[in-house]
Amino acid sequence: MILGAAVIALTMSAVELHFYPYELKLNHAFNLASMSRTVTPGVQVELRMDSIIGYGEASMPPYLGESVESVMSFLEKVDPQRLADPFQFERIHQYLDSLAPGNRAAKAAIDIALHDLTSRIMGKPWYQIYGLDPELAPCTSYTITNDTPEVLAQKMAEAEPYKIWKVKMGVPGDRELIETIRRHTDRPLCVDVNQGWKTREEALENILWLAERNVLFVEQPMDKTDLESHKWLKERSPLPIIADEAVQTSADVPALADAYDGINIKLMKSGGLHDAYKMAILARALGMKVMIGCMTETSCGVTAAAQLAPLADWVDLDGNLLIANDPFRGLTIVNGQVRLPRQLLKN
Ligand code: MG
Repeated sequence: MILGAAVIALTMSAVELHFYPYELKLNHAFNLASMSRTVTPGVQVELRMDSIIGYGEASMPPYLGESVESVMSFLEKVDPQRLADPFQFERIHQYLDSLAPGNRAAKAAIDIALHDLTSRIMGKPWYQIYGLDPELAPCTSYTITNDTPEVLAQKMAEAEPYKIWKVKMGVPGDRELIETIRRHTDRPLCVDVNQGWKTREEALENILWLAERNVLFVEQPMDKTDLESHKWLKERSPLPIIADEAVQTSADVPALADAYDGINIKLMKSGGLHDAYKMAILARALGMKVMIGCMTETSCGVTAAAQLAPLADWVDLDGNLLIANDPFRGLTIVNGQVRLPRQLLKN
């Protein structure tokens, strides 16, 4: 049983890889089309070279099929000596892929730690290494989930600093939630359906209704495998259609260009920043919109994703804002806009 282990350390030469489970406590229960939860599992990673520590993290939403057990089991297979030159991202990812297919959250944890470590070695944040202007980072959306009228009022009060609110649809009471929000504010909304609409006609009818209510875009309206219905919808929809569950890595992007207007990039899907950057560049080259998202994560994972925010049309980087026990300080939100730190700090 590996879950009870406080810290597992694998030491070779000067490189040490440490990892341990870390359960994130949610400020409010999170309600999706398929489930509701109050905590979410995570695994923290530390990659130590001499006196420098790079931090990484895996977050495992149930729909991606990874768990604390699978992430810990993958990380146990990693030979830290193969990470001894942390700048060799391409070679290291080939090595990680050779250990097992999939396991992208586990691979993301290593990748995020490598990027954090190399950033500290170079003394520069990755947005600067990528040549991106941090002033171009967009405002983040902030997710409001349905609740009792009292809790919903509290959630909306907490969400006041954020210029764009995100609403989940495809769940009972979704239109009522949007109407309640519209009585409170006219700020732009974005909508995430999490594959919740069953037919293309249902999707189009909902989108036409949303288009009259200052909605910016709609994320993953239908089943991720139904490319044809999304293509039909994209041809008729007045709002951009963004792929989330349908896109994992850069290899998925070209086939989606006819069916979606853009993609939602998340490090836990792509296996980290190395491929996420390729996804953003590829989507732009294909004329697609770029959205950077996250899972429910600490500031470690969210700050890593935020390095790409200046490349994005929209960002949904509120994962760390939803938890009560964040062990890091990283990106901040000022007047709704993502502000990138020079470096991630451990509390
Ligand atoms: Mg989504």
